[in-house]
Amino acid sequence: MKFDVMTLFPEMIDFITGESIIGRAKEKGIIDVNTFNIRDYTQDKHKRVDDYPYGGGPGMIMQCQPIYDCYTDIIRGGSKPHTIYMSPKGAVLTQKRALELSELGHIVILCGHYEGVDQRVLDEIVDEEISIGDYVLTGGELPACVLIDCVSRMIDGVLADSEGFQNESHFNGYLEHPQYTRPEIWKNRCVPQTLLSGHHANIEKWKKQQALELTQKQRPDLLKKTESE
Ligand code: SAM
Repeated sequence: MKFDVMTLFPEMIDFITGESIIGRAKEKGIIDVNTFNIRDYTQDKHKRVDDYPYGGGPGMIMQCQPIYDCYTDIIRGGSKPHTIYMSPKGAVLTQKRALELSELGHIVILCGHYEGVDQRVLDEIVDEEISIGDYVLTGGELPACVLIDCVSRMIDGVLADSEGFQNESHFNGYLEHPQYTRPEIWKNRCVPQTLLSGHHANIEKWKKQQALELTQKQRPDLLKKTESE
């Protein structure tokens, strides 16, 4: 899977995706994360990439030209890849959408900054806008890293146990059951007896029941969504 990221701050993407499980997946060649500095494509002699908004208002807007030239450089000679703009106006990212995206071979991601991006270049190149939540961040770099992480860990070979993510929160509409590790007793708190019993059928039943109760308590909206699907 190849991610090409258009950004004004490539170091942020390179640093975050260079660590831990995603960093190792890059080293193994399972995923490829390329960053493109939008500023390198500006035709402005002062290297500007933004300007004041028409109609007034605070902040600066990223201009069409550098983004479009960066994009055409990425897609040069190839077929048009699925192109995502990280945006608080987009549909909020879900596990289900991330799984669908993990099946594509190539994704281009545009990170906005300042007050946002000129709508015309979005209309020209973007297939989908994705938000990572109903709040506003200073730039699309952290959202892009969230998307890359979430999509990549569902690609074969990225997690040590490639089935691992299927038992986790959100995969089947439930939150995951509570987890415990050694020691058996900590600050007078014991690991649930069922987990120590070695009885696999009972352990599976316990996990399912706990997942249901936890979801009912903390995210009843997820159960309603699962029922209506
Ligand atoms: N003026 C814009 C608005 O009100 O919708 C917000 C611009 S925000 C300060 C700058 C950039 O950060 C956006 O262009 C987008 O790329 C990114 N961004 C901010 N919040 C985001 C979120 N929740 N999800 C995804 N991207 C986000």
